[in-house]
Amino acid sequence: MTKEALLNQTDLFLLDLDGTVYLDETPIGSAAETLQALRVRGKQLVFLTNNSSKTEEEYRAKLIRIGLWGEGDRVYTSGMATISYLGRHFAGKRVYLVGTEALKREFSAAGIVLDEEDPDLCVLAYDVQLTFAKIKKLNAFLRAGKPFFATHPDDVCPTKDVPMPDVGSFLAMFERSSGRKPDLIIGKPFTPMGEELASFTGTPQAKMCMIGDRMHTDIRFAANNGMKSVLVLSGETTRETMKNFPDRPDLVLETINEIL
Ligand SMILES: [Mg+2]
Repeated sequence: MTKEALLNQTDLFLLDLDGTVYLDETPIGSAAETLQALRVRGKQLVFLTNNSSKTEEEYRAKLIRIGLWGEGDRVYTSGMATISYLGRHFAGKRVYLVGTEALKREFSAAGIVLDEEDPDLCVLAYDVQLTFAKIKKLNAFLRAGKPFFATHPDDVCPTKDVPMPDVGSFLAMFERSSGRKPDLIIGKPFTPMGEELASFTGTPQAKMCMIGDRMHTDIRFAANNGMKSVLVLSGETTRETMKNFPDRPDLVLETINEIL
């Protein structure tokens, strides 16, 4: 597909964060100008992340601080998608949430009742405040057969030093201890996140284009949800390693800045 055709067919760009618009605290090249040019062309921008340890506010603050935020932009996290999904399909159910205090506040603010004693279902998020007491409790609920949801599947969370264990690593531990896999994973690359995004933005998935650096989450997400996709080589994927995956992005660019 040509760049111009892709731009013409896209109303809304979903922007992965680390490896796509910034690396740690530094915007990738002239990303600020590129995003502004997309806004000027009338494109909606949604910064999309699987990281459910942080809130929308925290991401917005960072994007403002490093100069990537613009008028009309939005942030969407797998935590937000999980809240929306539960509201739509499991309204009124009591939830045992393994997550950060910030995420617990977001669940409560959305009217979800958190219950550590006798929940109807369990949710595992990226809990950077994880303790053995929480592990023990979730393991017991899983062994008791409670429905089990995870916010996203990533094995590791990139940092500027060593990649940190993320939800996928936690899931491997719970599978070993309880024999359970999640009944559903919400975030990229799966479809619940795509459905919740369509509802959140009012834009059909066919008018969305995902820009990201990971084949197995970003590009798979677009393929699973009927979106267009752009792979950028500014993060974890190279032209060589992309061949190890089944999906073919509509465009492959060195960085997001080549989109215009
Ligand atoms: Mg990334």
